[in-house]
Amino acid sequence: MAVLVLDKRKQPLMPCSEKRARKLLESGRARVHRLMPFSIRLVDRRVEHSALQPVEIKLDPGSKTTGIALIRESEATDAQTGEVTVTAHVLSLFELAHRGRQISEALTARRQMRRRRRGNLRYRAPRFLNRGNKAKGWLAPSLQHRVDTTVAWVARLQRLAPVTGIAQELVRFDMQQMENPEIAGVEYQQGTLAGYETREYLLEKWGRECAYCGAKDTPLQVEHIHPKAKGGSNRIGNLTLACQPCNHKKGAQDVKAFLAKDPKRLERILAQAKRPLKDAAAVNTTRWALFNALKATGLPVTTGSGGLTKFNRSRLSMPKTHALDAVCVGATDAVADWQKPTLAIKATGRGSYRRTRLDKYGFPRGYLTRKKRIKGFQTGDRVKAEVTQGKKVGSYVGRAAVRATGSFNIQTAEGVVQGISHRYCTVVQRADGYGYSQIGAPAKATTAARSPLYLPGLKAGVSRGNI
Ligand SMILES: [Zn+2]
Repeated sequence: MAVLVLDKRKQPLMPCSEKRARKLLESGRARVHRLMPFSIRLVDRRVEHSALQPVEIKLDPGSKTTGIALIRESEATDAQTGEVTVTAHVLSLFELAHRGRQISEALTARRQMRRRRRGNLRYRAPRFLNRGNKAKGWLAPSLQHRVDTTVAWVARLQRLAPVTGIAQELVRFDMQQMENPEIAGVEYQQGTLAGYETREYLLEKWGRECAYCGAKDTPLQVEHIHPKAKGGSNRIGNLTLACQPCNHKKGAQDVKAFLAKDPKRLERILAQAKRPLKDAAAVNTTRWALFNALKATGLPVTTGSGGLTKFNRSRLSMPKTHALDAVCVGATDAVADWQKPTLAIKATGRGSYRRTRLDKYGFPRGYLTRKKRIKGFQTGDRVKAEVTQGKKVGSYVGRAAVRATGSFNIQTAEGVVQGISHRYCTVVQRADGYGYSQIGAPAKATTAARSPLYLPGLKAGVSRGNI
C-alpha cells in the first residue's frame, strides 16, 4: 500500500512507497503522523504544488460496504493515432463497512421499550399525531449515516493526499448508453458496454429476482420471453431474468406454455415486459444525497453507472471486491498496480450514551461506568500490549475494550485476548469511531472468470465534469 505523506506544515504531498517511507523514517527525515491509514510527516520539506500529480478518490457506494480507491492518473498519447489513454495507478484501497443496520435496530429497540413503558407501567396520556413534517431531503438515520461516514472519509483522505477529483458510481444503468431502450429497441449483446447496461437495467426492472420462481440472491441469466429459437428478438422488451434451473427448464418453450399452470404470474410477466423503466429508477436517494454532499467539497465530481463499472472490471479482468469496483467506476481505460492489500474500515460508533444496560424486556440489567476513560484508555483505542508475566506472555496489537477493573480485552487480527492489564498497554492510535483490519491482496482473476469478449480499443462515452 502507498504511504500517505504530509509536509512539515501538514499539507499533503504525493503518496510514496512503503520502502521509501521506511528509509525516510530511519534517516529521521519523517515522523509517523497516523497509523491507520499509515501516514508520515516530513520534518524538513514544504509542499511544491508543481510536483503534485492528479490524484482521484473513487467511490462505489453500497448499502453495507462502500469501496474507496485512491488513484493517481497518468495520460499517454499514442504517437500514431493521437488517442489519449488514461491509466489509473492504484495507490490505496479501502473498504468502509457501515453500521446502518445497528443504528436502525437500536432505534427500533428504543421505540419499543418506550412504547411498552408508556403502555403498561404508569398512566400517560396517549400521544398521537405529534410528528412534524420531515424536512425536504430527510434521510432515515441509518441512511444518513452512510452518507456522513463516506463524506467523512473523503474529507480525511483529502487532508492526507493532494486530491484533485472525485468519481462516484451514481446510477445503476445509463439510459443514454442504451438510447431509450423500450422505444428505440436496443439489442442485447453480451460483452459490450450496452450489454452490461442492459443487464443492470433488467435487474432493476425485474426486481433482482427470477421472473419465473422469484428466487433471489442467485446468479440470474438473461432470458428471452418469446424464445429465440422460435424467432424471439434480442430487443429489451422481450428480455427478462431467470435463475439457471428455470432458464434450463423453460428451454425453447413459449412463455404461455411454460407458465400454463400459473396464469397470474404469466399475466404479471407480460404486463411488466411492456412497461418501460424510467431513468430515475436507477438512482436511489442515498446515492443522490452522497453526490450532492461530495459536490459541496468543491472538487470536480464525475459519475459513472453500475453497468460501466461491471464492464470495466470484466474488460480489465479484475476480481470482484468492493475496493476494486471503486477503481473501475467511471471512464477507465487501463488500471495498474491494483494487486494491493485493502484496508478494511469498520464503523463501530463511539459507544453508547445510555449508561444502563437493558435486558430484552427493557429492564435494567447492569450499569456502565459514569466515565468512559479508564486508566487513560477508552474503548476503541488501538493499543499495543507487551505482556511480560503470567499466562498471556506476548505482544498484542488491536482495539481495546476497557473494563472498570483495569483489565482489558484486546481485539487482535487473530481474535480477542481477554484480561490484559492496563499496565502492559500503550496507546498507538486514539479511538476515532472505526475499527481497522487488513485484507490481503486479491489474486488475479482466472482465465475462466474473464469475460468472453475482450475489447481493448473500446472507449466508454462517459461525460466528465460537474453535472
Ligand atoms: Zn427461477
